[in-house]
Amino acid sequence: MDVASRRLVRQRAGGRCEYCQIHEDDEPYAFHLEHIIPKKHGGEDDPSNLAWSCHSCNLMKGANLSGRVHGEIVTLFHPRRQQWNRHFRWVGPILAGKTKCGIATVQVLDINAHDRVKLRDILIASGAFPPKRII
Ligand SMILES: [Zn+2]
Repeated sequence: MDVASRRLVRQRAGGRCEYCQIHEDDEPYAFHLEHIIPKKHGGEDDPSNLAWSCHSCNLMKGANLSGRVHGEIVTLFHPRRQQWNRHFRWVGPILAGKTKCGIATVQVLDINAHDRVKLRDILIASGAFPPKRII
């Protein structure tokens, strides 16, 4: 991936993961350029198919495009085509899905894993989370 694309995607996201909203300065692991539609499924390197993602979200999403909610197959959140606020809301340090898409994304990306909730708890206590402006 070229440096310009990486810079564009990172700046566009304000340095926050476009799934779980954690800021790159608050995470010990490097962030990734995430292919929303994975290359394995024909996704391209174009910025319209790229999202800024924390290590955990990127690792858990892998090549997934969907999850299951009450037995129904549901596509995962698409940061370029969908509004974060429409699909998710914070309940303290817990990310709740407001839609089937949001619920599936939280589940597949394991956004409420114990260590991730614990980190958000610490950030909330320090006033650094959740972000004031959701991109
Ligand atoms: Zn994330």
